[in-house]
Amino acid sequence: MAADRSELALAPPQVIAVSKQQPEEKIRAALEIGHRHFGENKVQEAQKHWAALKSQYAGVTLHLIGPLQSNKAEDAVALFDVIHTVDRPKIADAIAAACIKQHKIIPCFIQINTGEEEQKAGVSPDGAAALIDYCRHVAKLPIIGLMCIPPADANPAPHFALLHKLATKHGLKELSMGMSADYETAARFGSTYVRIGTGIFGSRS
Ligand SMILES: *Cc1c(COP(=O)(O)O)cnc(C)c1O
Repeated sequence: MAADRSELALAPPQVIAVSKQQPEEKIRAALEIGHRHFGENKVQEAQKHWAALKSQYAGVTLHLIGPLQSNKAEDAVALFDVIHTVDRPKIADAIAAACIKQHKIIPCFIQINTGEEEQKAGVSPDGAAALIDYCRHVAKLPIIGLMCIPPADANPAPHFALLHKLATKHGLKELSMGMSADYETAARFGSTYVRIGTGIFGSRS
């Protein structure tokens, strides 16, 4: 094992319950037992459940974990509390503009395409420094950390190690990494937010 929890002196990660494509009764059940961090990957689908649920349950933190189009930035900023998927200047600008308009502060993660997969969202590891700099100094977005989704068929460990290294290099504390299949590995590499869907709710519809 390349990194060890005790070596890195880690606190356990915050669990984000990923409620996409789940029936509302299951989401309510999680809320009733006190869970408060939830993740959704689509703005419109999230609005259907969460516009009402957020007014019924106090203290919910809703995380956007899917790709964002700039024409949806205003809706995203209105509903979500944290955005994990900033991956280009245009989307950083759109989020920043919506935050100013709505008087909101949305902590953001930059999504890194650690596997450099053609079809996957995220900035390449080589482009991370420039985008972090842009978000901090031009868009003036509060960037709190980095997020990745390792390639489906790969050993996730090197991807989590790379994300950890990049975050340390740029002075970023939060790491959004780890899903149902690999959250234990992610935790060993210093994840601070794991995003768990099927592991909590069962298979999606
Ligand atoms: C769906 C999704 C998850 C949850 O995946 P599971 O395998 O169900 O735990 C985590 N992160 C992102 C970005 C997702 O889209």
